[in-house]
Amino acid sequence: MKAAVFHKPGDALTIETVPQPTISDREMLVKVSHCGICGTDIHASREGPFMAPPETIFGHEFTGEIVEIGNALEGGEFTIGDRITSLPFIDDKTIGLGKISGAYSEYVKVGYDLVVKLPDALSNRDGALVEPLAVGLHSVKMAGNIAGKTVLIIGAGPIGLTCAIWCRFFGAARIVISEMSEARLKMAETFGFTDFVDPKGDVAAQFSDLTGAAPAVQFECVGAVGLMQECIQRAPKRGLIMGIGVCDNPDTIVPLMAFGKELTIQWAVGYDKEDFEFTIEMMMQGRIVADAMITEVVSLEQVPAVFEALKQPTNQCKVLINLDLD
Ligand SMILES: [Zn+2]
Repeated sequence: MKAAVFHKPGDALTIETVPQPTISDREMLVKVSHCGICGTDIHASREGPFMAPPETIFGHEFTGEIVEIGNALEGGEFTIGDRITSLPFIDDKTIGLGKISGAYSEYVKVGYDLVVKLPDALSNRDGALVEPLAVGLHSVKMAGNIAGKTVLIIGAGPIGLTCAIWCRFFGAARIVISEMSEARLKMAETFGFTDFVDPKGDVAAQFSDLTGAAPAVQFECVGAVGLMQECIQRAPKRGLIMGIGVCDNPDTIVPLMAFGKELTIQWAVGYDKEDFEFTIEMMMQGRIVADAMITEVVSLEQVPAVFEALKQPTNQCKVLINLDLD
């Protein structure tokens, strides 16, 4: 089968013919339809603690059709031809970030417990957004009751944007987005968000001008050194700071300031199966509409060039690979 393969940092992915995944008794083989290119994949292609091993095939935001079912699973919940998505794990092994080949390829294998069927009315294209939406949903759920609260979202990339979407869903009183990229601001506007602050200016003052208060909940979705301390500085008494962005460098905070305000700092990562299921249900009901996040759909052959371009700041939000395109 054809796949886009990562070899080492600095090198472009290459399109190669590789062996199709073989499945065990309790696994299923999926013919990939769509797969999102994720910031995590770009991150894992760089030198550092998150770097993926050589020969990795990325791709953990996928949809497709079951074409083969392990012996132990026959007669179970799934049949050949079912359209599915899956949490990107088989047991404790990750799909698309090292151990198990991902969906920048014609076929991907999945387990059983973490596979979720796509309803007829949800396209494979929209289904590929379930994973990034589930990240936002899980983050907002981890923040506890968001209803009636003022929220600051720091960074409006795909994850910041999905956090904003779910904060609105769960009834946040005000949602203010801090972002400097024009393209990302436009994308947030497309989703109906109108309150923005400029991170190059005084964010606390701008937030207060807009809402008359300090942000009760802050979602730090960038993961850059220094941002946690900035959140601590602008938080009100008993404020909540959510660590969503991945910062893999040592970072300094002044605990006294957080202590004085009795702040809560909570990190969140990933999702549970019920987050996938709830996301799908809300998409089906039309209460979560996210198609506008998709800024480009490319063929597998185009992936190396597109992946290189995404290593630089771009105007893209979510790029999908459509495996049916030539
Ligand atoms: Zn992802």
